[in-house]
Amino acid sequence: MGAMTASQHAHAVSLTRFIDQSPSPYHVAQSAERLLLDAGFTATDGRSAGEPGRFVRSADGALFAWVVPESAGPTTPFRVVGAHTDSPNLRLKPLPNAHTQGYARASVEVYGGVLLNSWLDRDLGLSGRVTVRVGDRSEGRLVFLNEPLFRVPQLAIHLDRDVNNTGLVLNKHAHLRPIFGLEDGADDLMDLVAGELDVPRSDILGADLMFHDTNPSGFVGVDDSFISAPRLDNQLSCHAAVTALSGITDPDAIAIVALFDHEEVGSVSSSGAATAATPVLLDQIADSRGATPADRVASRAGSLLISADNAHATHPNYPERHDPGHRVMMNGGPVLKHNVNQRYTTDAHSAATFHLAAERAGVPTQHFSNRADLACGSTIGPTLAAGLGIRALDMGCAQLAMHSCRELAGSEDPWSMTLLLAELLGGTG
Ligand code: ZN
Repeated sequence: MGAMTASQHAHAVSLTRFIDQSPSPYHVAQSAERLLLDAGFTATDGRSAGEPGRFVRSADGALFAWVVPESAGPTTPFRVVGAHTDSPNLRLKPLPNAHTQGYARASVEVYGGVLLNSWLDRDLGLSGRVTVRVGDRSEGRLVFLNEPLFRVPQLAIHLDRDVNNTGLVLNKHAHLRPIFGLEDGADDLMDLVAGELDVPRSDILGADLMFHDTNPSGFVGVDDSFISAPRLDNQLSCHAAVTALSGITDPDAIAIVALFDHEEVGSVSSSGAATAATPVLLDQIADSRGATPADRVASRAGSLLISADNAHATHPNYPERHDPGHRVMMNGGPVLKHNVNQRYTTDAHSAATFHLAAERAGVPTQHFSNRADLACGSTIGPTLAAGLGIRALDMGCAQLAMHSCRELAGSEDPWSMTLLLAELLGGTG
């Protein structure tokens, strides 16, 4: 391990910019779409799916992008990379004002498996989307208040003397409400949003808003070994997948990147990985290449899903939480994830594809397997693989502090991940 190469550095910088511009799943879809449009992809509503070319379609916090080669026929297989756009965080309730004790305070709900303590004492902004009245209709608008307007202050140790011995216990309803001013100066939180969008408060009809860390992402450690950023899980994979696809023009398979919202809460939504939109897209592409039902079966049999999501690096302060025989290091290369109970999808055949592609891409790899006595996390992999009926593998970059407001990943790994995803998307080997 040493200093980053120029390619690794450039990619890591691009990732930190992507993350800083993408505080919500809606912004992730927008940032990914921009990258693809800049790379020459064509925005489409999807009706012409199957025509040769490079296309992108996004809605809500989800995105599909695909490359159909000229040579594609009715049995051409698919290579699909799936990743998720959402991250655990604090979200605003519909009636957001919870003022008390002289303070203007926001009412929040916890989204996904948040490390609650990590949201204390940080300078928070607000982002997401609202719907705004336009005549007798409504339209969606993205919101990005990237100033330190909100704060959840921790209780002083003098008032919580045992906290370091007994552990910090936070009540999700009572203890996580950010303050954003004094009650007589800042009455309605939605006034801030209306002001930012330059619309009357009364014209905001609906909102999906959430908080984010306003501190910019950057490098930490000797030789800039690590990336310090929010939402590395899983924007690192989204950014790598989109970057990989943007370099592909004439793949052997039909190459698809699918980004989904709501992984952190189970994936069951119209923009989550359980959506019927994914098999519909594959069928649309196959049908427009003249596929019969038998052709579809043949095409799926040769296809592969790559579920890309970050992996746990072995934590040096808690080695007992990991299997010492399966040590995972940041900057050790993409991690292939295994779980016999199908929390991860990797099997012998998909592992072989992974290793052959890594050899061609020239990137190091590692294996993750949880302690046998600890419950395993999961990904969109099993849901998607089942819905599509295609073989799959689970892989991702090693990171620490997963689901913290501020996460840590290796600065060399994202580029290795991108090279490997490009190899997997572009070929059928
Ligand atoms: Zn994840």
